[in-house]
Amino acid sequence: MSDLPKTALITGGSRGIGRACALRLARAGYLVYITYVSRPEQAEETCRFITDSGGQAGSFALDIGSHQAIEGFFQKEIKDRVSLQVLVNNAGLTRDGLLVRMKPEQWQQVINVNLTGSFVCLQQAARLMMRSRSGRIINISSVTAQTGNAGQANYTAAKAGLIGLTRTAAQELAPRNITVNAVAPGFIDTDMTADLPQDLRDRFLQMIPLQRFGSPEDVAACVAFLASEEAAYITGQVFGVNGGLYM
Ligand code: NAP
Repeated sequence: MSDLPKTALITGGSRGIGRACALRLARAGYLVYITYVSRPEQAEETCRFITDSGGQAGSFALDIGSHQAIEGFFQKEIKDRVSLQVLVNNAGLTRDGLLVRMKPEQWQQVINVNLTGSFVCLQQAARLMMRSRSGRIINISSVTAQTGNAGQANYTAAKAGLIGLTRTAAQELAPRNITVNAVAPGFIDTDMTADLPQDLRDRFLQMIPLQRFGSPEDVAACVAFLASEEAAYITGQVFGVNGGLYM
């Protein structure tokens, strides 16, 4: 057994769903590492919430759209320094537009961060977890990966890609006792959905059987379960946290 601290890495932990996952996993006893790209103060705030309640946390600037930056981060901050037990691939962004008008950069940026960045983190984490013969990887997909969503060709393609990646990684890594699952949130109240026009919010709300948007904590509870000992026999699955929504 390694003496290094048992660590959970959450990409995009400065706010929203990532922050809620960070707080939950800190409560479960992990040293929590979060990454951010543009909001150091919010990342610091997440860490402060954790340390104020007796946990341990660190935050790192890391552009998940950069393959090189991710490799450098794992080399410098993770490998040989901590025992990586949990990876939550959460960092994500939207660049919406109808597909006939979508610019190549709009497509590429969303694929780079939401899909390729998650793949690179998963690959780096898997290499370390394979050595310790244990690990939990949780990819944050979206209900829209399963349903499609007008105006989000780039986002839905990336999030559907994450589901395929989850299933393949689960098969390849199972012999090393590493589980890989996806969580597909529905509409969750975060900065990402804050700018939705009111008429669209009302329309979505009518489609949600539980009659409310989800909270980041709703998603974090599922992530914490998948990271827990109780979920040891669950891999390659997609968990909807969506209030019953199927569009
Ligand atoms: P959010 O509040 O907008 O937070 C996004 C997080 O990702 C922030 O921590 C942000 O860092 C980070 N991030 C964005 N681009 C990044 C990059 N290039 N490199 C590194 N980090 C980056 O979003 P959220 O709603 O919590 O969403 C979290 C995840 O859940 C995303 O993958 C999203 O697609 C997925 N999801 C959300 C919903 C929803 O309804 N909210 C539904 C389904 C799926 P900074 O703070 O530094 O910018």
